[in-house]
Amino acid sequence: MSGKTHPWGAPPWTVDFRPAPHTLPEQVDFAIVGGGFTGLSAAAWLRRLSPKKSVVVFESSSLGQGASGRTGGLALAETAAGPLPGLSDVLAGYQEILRKLRIDSSLELPGVWELGRSNTANKLPICWSDSGDLKVVRTVPGGAVDPGKVVAGLGRAVENAGAQIIEHAQVHAIEYSNPPRLQIRRKVRSHVQQTEIRASQILLATNAFSLELAGLRGTAQAKLTLALATRPLTAGQLKAIGLSSRHPFYTIDLPYLWGRLLESNGIVFGAGLVPMPASIDALFSKPSGPSAQQSAEPNLYRFDVRKGEAAESFCWLESRVHKLHPALRSARITHRWAGPILFTEGMRPIFRHHPRSENVMVLAGYNGHGVALSVYLGQWAAEALLGKRPLPDWR
Ligand SMILES: Cc1cc2nc3c(=O)[nH]c(=O)nc-3n(C[C@H](O)[C@H](O)[C@H](O)COP(=O)(O)OP(=O)(O)OC[C@H]3O[C@@H](n4cnc5c(N)ncnc54)[C@H](O)[C@@H]3O)c2cc1C
Repeated sequence: MSGKTHPWGAPPWTVDFRPAPHTLPEQVDFAIVGGGFTGLSAAAWLRRLSPKKSVVVFESSSLGQGASGRTGGLALAETAAGPLPGLSDVLAGYQEILRKLRIDSSLELPGVWELGRSNTANKLPICWSDSGDLKVVRTVPGGAVDPGKVVAGLGRAVENAGAQIIEHAQVHAIEYSNPPRLQIRRKVRSHVQQTEIRASQILLATNAFSLELAGLRGTAQAKLTLALATRPLTAGQLKAIGLSSRHPFYTIDLPYLWGRLLESNGIVFGAGLVPMPASIDALFSKPSGPSAQQSAEPNLYRFDVRKGEAAESFCWLESRVHKLHPALRSARITHRWAGPILFTEGMRPIFRHHPRSENVMVLAGYNGHGVALSVYLGQWAAEALLGKRPLPDWR
């Protein structure tokens, strides 16, 4: 992550990988737009399955600055809409992918607790106070990963497979010719270069950003969600609050709350949604005048989660955490951050061809349920781009 303070805050992990510098090619076989879990997984698999094809990932910011580096890190089964046709076992597939790409992710799968406030919930080991008594309702398959390690591991896997990653390269338009052409603004030192690249096929893995580009404006909604981390708790505190077994958790009724232990024994808690700026695309600087030439990145500094509605939501989350249990009353909050989530109709992921071209594929919209799923579907997208597997029909 960058050294300067990001207006969306910073999570407690790091992404210890930076791609090697590259010059932009004029033509590629596969252009992947978006360097999050989805795009990186697809890029790594494209090269593994077809080592002679050229693959380039374009990332408008730096790796880890989208949802993937800011996520909660709960690895969950299925999709937010449950099992879907052809999906198979997401968690088993995720484990297999991490193993094959040699990614040290700190994945642990003890199961995830669903918490509820109903009378039928079990009391132990959780008994927290949060708009009622929060207790365990059931345990579902899943666990947690270190998101920083997964982003870094996928980045390395992409480069080791022979694909290129180009950071600070924003795809701001696509011309739907045959082959399609990507218009790219790339930040090189303090200058912005405008380039056009031809690609045989394109995967748009841009998640909650670039909705216009992905043809998702009006069909999906982008929101920011909030998370915080406490400083490490003692073994006694963990026992008192019922988290010694290290089960991640989320509530099944409102107000929503999710969380998990970090390796350090700090706890990540998350909840709350605030609208993304009306048009996140409008936050991208346009290099039309001398002052606008300075950045090819989304100017996220105009939207600061330390102010306004987001700041109020953080205060509310913090006070809920402190009131959950007496052992958490004085837990110090060390990190506060936000990240984007894309909500879709019926909570189903969007995995289809772009309405304007069969050579452009869109994969996004996991509805806050994308840690394992994005990597898993990234592999499927690679197979589909190579014509080895059809796309699902989840509409
Ligand atoms: C705070 C938070 C907590 C979450 N917790 C969980 C959880 O516990 N469990 C779970 O399963 N899911 C969770 N999620 C959801 C999960 O993190 C996401 O579904 C997943 O990371 C999406 O990965 P992605 O690669 O599709 O998107 P992203 O990681 O957002 O990647 C998209 C990338 O595309 C880049 N980009 C966008 N537009 C352009 C462009 N025009 N040109 C070039 N690059 C572009 C962006 O900069 C970004 O890096 C959470 C999300 C958030 C924000």
